[in-house]
Amino acid sequence: MFWTGELIARTAPVRRRPAGDPPLSPLLEHATAAYLGLAIGDALGATVEFMTPSEIRQQSGAHRDIVGGGWLRLKAGQVTDDTTMSLALGDAILAHGRVDAKATADAFDAWMRAKPVDIGNTIRRNLITYRKTGNPEAPPSEHDAGNGAAMRVLPVALATYGQAEDAVRAANAAQAHTTHHNALSDAACEVLILMVQDFLAGRDAIAVERQRIAPFIERFPVFAYDRKRRDNPSGFVAETLQAVFQAFFATDNFENCLIDVVNRGGDADTTGAIAGMLAGARYGLAAIPRRWRNDLDGRIHQRCRDQAQALIGMCKAGA
Ligand SMILES: [Mg+2]
Repeated sequence: MFWTGELIARTAPVRRRPAGDPPLSPLLEHATAAYLGLAIGDALGATVEFMTPSEIRQQSGAHRDIVGGGWLRLKAGQVTDDTTMSLALGDAILAHGRVDAKATADAFDAWMRAKPVDIGNTIRRNLITYRKTGNPEAPPSEHDAGNGAAMRVLPVALATYGQAEDAVRAANAAQAHTTHHNALSDAACEVLILMVQDFLAGRDAIAVERQRIAPFIERFPVFAYDRKRRDNPSGFVAETLQAVFQAFFATDNFENCLIDVVNRGGDADTTGAIAGMLAGARYGLAAIPRRWRNDLDGRIHQRCRDQAQALIGMCKAGA
């Protein structure tokens, strides 16, 4: 059950508007912050991807600035596949007015042909299969439980905001199964989408953890994150979400959440992107450090803003 835009306006907490941003509705402001958070977390985390926490400490004390570099030798502010696949998916959703499997697979195929800076193995393999078969749904595989579908769910969360959960799940399956046809990947995608939508509706983190995450972990215990600190999270979607949830629920602002998660190393661009998406949706634009917004690639910054606005314009509550 989702709240309507009207309910949000009456019940959401007061939100400050950062200097320099045009006035936005609370819904659009938090949707925009989720998109910028995704890109900022990606750009911040990519520098330390595949490093261990102790290697990060030796190199920079704590990693807290968008400086580029890393194994991909990025320019400062440059993003990776997490952000660019999300933008490709969002463009396909906007062009077709819904999440269409074939349009999504075509968009990802075009993205791959444009030689992205990085690409996951599962994504590459299943897109190559799509070129041969023309079937946008990858074959089911228990091995395809990587985080590559979960990292790009944001456009689905925005476009389906206000829809029933079954419709949200179907929309996600259409995008996710182009590359990851796997029950754990699906579960992760769905819980992330529903969490983003919870925060857009103004729910607080305690309620989300109790009402959204607890039943999810009861159903899928592999995602439990209360046992041991998850450092060096791999690309396995359960490890990714464990690191994200630990950082997200242990901190109370955008900046500390992202610094916590990327300094765990491992698949840090993707943990950064997912944590940044959730933290943006939770805290809003005013909470994103100005230095990070300034340091993000300007073209990506604008694309994220524009797409957040267009996708929210599509959803029932934003129309
Ligand atoms: Mg990446």
